[in-house]
Amino acid sequence: MVGSAVVRRLQGEDILNDERIDLRDQLSVREWVQQNKPDVIVLAAAKVGGIKANSDAPAEFLYDNLMIETNVIHAAYEAGVEKLLFLGSSCIYPREAVQPITEDALLTSPLEPTNEAYAIAKIAGLKLCEAYRQQHGCDFISTMPCNLYGPGDRFDFESSHVIPALMMKAHEAKVKNAKTLEVWGSGKPLREFLYVDDLAEALVFLLQHYSDEKPVNVGSGEEVSIAKLAGMIAGVVGFEGALVFDSAKPDGTMRKVMDSSRINKAGWKPSVGLEEGLGRAYEWYLSNQQRACAA
Ligand code: GDP
Repeated sequence: MVGSAVVRRLQGEDILNDERIDLRDQLSVREWVQQNKPDVIVLAAAKVGGIKANSDAPAEFLYDNLMIETNVIHAAYEAGVEKLLFLGSSCIYPREAVQPITEDALLTSPLEPTNEAYAIAKIAGLKLCEAYRQQHGCDFISTMPCNLYGPGDRFDFESSHVIPALMMKAHEAKVKNAKTLEVWGSGKPLREFLYVDDLAEALVFLLQHYSDEKPVNVGSGEEVSIAKLAGMIAGVVGFEGALVFDSAKPDGTMRKVMDSSRINKAGWKPSVGLEEGLGRAYEWYLSNQQRACAA
């Protein structure tokens, strides 16, 4: 999803977007980077998933992400890549971090257990960028986006993040004339969502204007409860039945809003509001249903 948005944003530039390489394979990554010698790498590739996927497959989330980061970052160093931008996630911050979460909250207390494996891997990636900068002078930077959504997302009932999962459920409920829509957890957790093309704009902005070891938060600043989000999704999809909350499912962290004032002060602001973004994501889903479910 993020990679495609970056490619959309950089249309017309000389982009290498080779989807054939298994980034977990050290040799393939090293050979590819040596042969293609990119000036800049945007490391958006990762094993990602929603709250259930993270709990079901912690080994995969840890192994795949550690391998991808280690291989790409080291190969970039060896090949003398001028700039590398690593994407982390807001879940790297402690579960009990003071909200809105600033970049300084990193490693100050324990993580949220439902996505600890993913967070540990992403923290390692950020630390790799920091270490290669310190030891080798590489211009490697990292950014922490909030929860993302939009075209190219993975739509799956079980393993998706909340927006694609609820969109798909609401769509199916509407088509089948179902009376209810099941929402996991209490509906009370608060989340911050950013439309993926806004993120792509922020990434290009950082590539052009940022060079420091400290990660940069990128969020929309728009916080919404899961219950309200579910209502908005039902509205966008046109599902008119009732929302049913399944308290047997986990809530995860109760609040996760980032302080994005550093990038805001530097000059980047999001442009797509949640209501509009949900509409666009649903349109994309409707015209790409097969692709969305296979992503
Ligand atoms: P998180 O931000 O890492 O917790 O990732 P998710 O996007 O998977 O979940 C966000 C919140 O939405 C959690 O509180 C979930 O319990 C809640 N949620 C409600 N319904 C769903 C659903 O159908 N799928 C997912 N993934 N989350 C849901």
